[in-house]
This record gives sequence, structure tokens and C-alpha cells, in this order.
Amino acid sequence: MRIGLEIHVQLPTRSKLFCGCSTAGEAPNSSVCPICLGFPGSRPFLNRRALEMGVLIAKFLNCRVADTVSFARKTYFYPDLAKNFQITQYDTPVGSDGHFMIGEKRVGIWRAHIEEDPGRIKRVGRAGEELGLVDYNRSGIPLVEIVTAPDLSSPAEARDFLTDLVIELRHLIGVTGEDQNMRVDANISVGEERVEIKNITGLRNVEKGLRAEATRQTKMLAAGKRIVRETRHFDESRGVTLPGREKEFEEDYGYIGEPDLGTYRIGPLAASMAVPETPLVRAARLQREHGIGAPAARQIVLTDWELADLFEVLAAQVGGDAAMSWTMGAIGSNWKGLRERAGEHRKDIIGIVAAVTAGEMTDSEGRMRLAALSTGEEVGAAEEGGDLDVLIAGLVDQHPEVVKDYRSNERAANFLIGQVMKATKGQYSSKIVAERMRKELEKRF
Ligand SMILES: [Zn+2]
Repeated sequence: MRIGLEIHVQLPTRSKLFCGCSTAGEAPNSSVCPICLGFPGSRPFLNRRALEMGVLIAKFLNCRVADTVSFARKTYFYPDLAKNFQITQYDTPVGSDGHFMIGEKRVGIWRAHIEEDPGRIKRVGRAGEELGLVDYNRSGIPLVEIVTAPDLSSPAEARDFLTDLVIELRHLIGVTGEDQNMRVDANISVGEERVEIKNITGLRNVEKGLRAEATRQTKMLAAGKRIVRETRHFDESRGVTLPGREKEFEEDYGYIGEPDLGTYRIGPLAASMAVPETPLVRAARLQREHGIGAPAARQIVLTDWELADLFEVLAAQVGGDAAMSWTMGAIGSNWKGLRERAGEHRKDIIGIVAAVTAGEMTDSEGRMRLAALSTGEEVGAAEEGGDLDVLIAGLVDQHPEVVKDYRSNERAANFLIGQVMKATKGQYSSKIVAERMRKELEKRF
């Protein structure tokens, strides 16, 4: 089974790709102008931010970035396309010949190009008497289209690919709401001929749609029937794919160069642009540098970027394994509270883990202290110990027999130390408590 994906991702710009209209229009047709409706005499102008995002994505996908790019008109008729053509990139996509890794598997990226979205058609009315309402707010919304090689070998793998891609793109350009802002066309061939399932939204639907189509093709082939090259749609409610129009070939669209836009030299821009480290790239690095497992590295990074920051500092001090078990254990489970105070208490958190690792504090004490930190209980007082001394003095007053026993056996103090630890709920390390207790007892000699 071979699966290839064409993924349309909305680029989160404030204005549209070729005009100044807002991308946040809500009421139907409230965010439109002569340019995005293609009125006579209107001229498109390119949104620089969208171009930059496209270049960044192409670089991230290990693509060869073209030195100059231009745009093309893809001509076809549909009511959601007021101009009768869509402005896209044809022979000079921003990126080509890249790849994306899912775990150890390399998935080829044929191209990444920038294009505008058409409008939206909403069907209303009873079946058989439906009317189509058209909303051009989306007309001209910037998209990047990423086309993969047919390297994916199962519907589940296709979903894994998209899941990972969304994680990375969200970090890279701030894509949000994967379901609304990501549309997928999926090509799948069980035998020789491939079928395209158009316009699937949602990662789960991609997997479901591909499964349904794989089953259909397998049954057809088993029955000795021929698979026709065509475009189908996934009917979510029935869980089957249904035929659409016969597949057009790219040449049917009669691409011509867009005469109203120039050529753009992006080579220098691409050369000067640094791709920031993305979550899964970071997870792979943590795995490599600190010898932790892939699932653990992924969990730490995906829980929170700052948790991963803390992990890295800890790992440098106490080693990867200890850092991982604390990060995924007591620190991770108290992270919500710790995160709010992570800035001011970072040193305390590291100090606790370092003390436990060095054997100066017990494991359970460390956990208690982290829990106390996350709820904001006083910890800084441990250094001063004012309240602690009062508490200890009171306890020693109540137990004169311990003072007596302590003269001959220092371990007699353990009973009182335990009482203090219990009363202070792990606010102070046992080392500090023991030291203060010794001072207090020795005062009484
Ligand atoms: Zn406009």
C-alpha cells in the first residue's frame, strides 16, 4: 500500500495573501475587497510575512529552496472561486525535494508551495432542494501546500505523520486548531492505480478515510475488478468513500504565469534564516545527548517547553536517568503549580533533586518538598529556620527525657526529628532539621 498526502496548512498571518483584508472575518462576506474577489482593475500584492513563513517551512522540511519564485494561475470554474482562477505556485515552488522524519522513517517531500484558499460554500435546505451559499471571507487566505512522496505505508502511519507535522508546524509558525486549519488530499493505491480522497479535515478522519478506501480497493482487487483513477470523498457519517469527479491531470488546469505579480528573489532570505529547534527535533536531541528513551523524551518536550528546559539543566547536574525519573515523576506531576513558580524556584527544584541524588535527602522527602513548592508553601524559610527553631525548642521542652537520653545516645534525637518532619510536611530537609535539633539539644546540656 502506498499513500501520499497533499496537506494544506493555513499560514497564520493577520491579512490575506494578496490584499489587506483581515483573515479574521466572521460574518459572511465581511472581509472581502476588489482584489480577493477579482474585480476588474484590481491588482494583487504579495504578503511578505506569508512568503517568509513558506520559506521557513521549506527549510524546515529540508527542501531545496528556489532562488527566485513566481506565481501561476490555476484556472477552473467553481462558484467558490470568484476570479475563475486560483493563484498558486506551479514550476517554482518555494521548496522542493525535502524530507520529514517520523521516528526512524524518512518520508520524502516533493514540494512545498504557497497558494491562496478559495471561498467556502455552505449547503442549506432539504435534500434535493439544496441551495449553496457562498462566503468569500476565506478567499485569499494564505496556505502552504506540502506534497509528500507516496512513502507512507498505512493509514495509521499517515496519521502519525500528520500528528508529528502539526506539532512541529505549530511551534514553527504558530498554527492553531489543526482541524479547521489543515485540509488533506490523500492519494492511496493498494494495487497499481491510485485514487485521491479530496478535502479531508481532521487527523482522525484522514486515517478513517484511508482505511475505508484501502478496504474498498482490496475488495475490488480480490473480486478481479479494475480500480479507476478518480477523486473520491470521505463520507464521515457512513464511513465510506464515494466517487466524485474523474481525476483531472495537472495539465488540465492550463497553468499560466500570474502577470500581476513579479518574481521574488528568496535565496538571500532563505540563506539568512535560521530554523529554530522544533519539539520533535529537540526530543531526538535529548534522547541522543542524555541517553533517555524516545517516548520519555517526547513526553517531556510535549508536556511543556519549560519542563524540557528544566530537564536539561537537571540532566547536566545529576545525569540523564535521574533527571528523567524526576522530571516525569514528582516534578511532572506537580508541574502545574511548579510551572507558575518555576522562575523563582528553579534553583530550589534543582537543589532538591541534587540533594536526593547526593544522598543528603531521602526520596520521599524530596517528593514532599517538590509538592510543597508547587502549592507555594514557604520553602525559603528553611535557610533562616526561625520558625523551625521555635518548633524544635517547643518539642524539646515537651520531651525532657530525650535530652537526657541524647547525652548517651545521639540517635535518641531521631524521634524528635521525625516529629518535626511530620509537622513541617517536608518543608525542611532532614539534614537541616537534624542540625537545628542537635544545636537545640546541646544548648540544654
Ligand atoms: Zn481582499
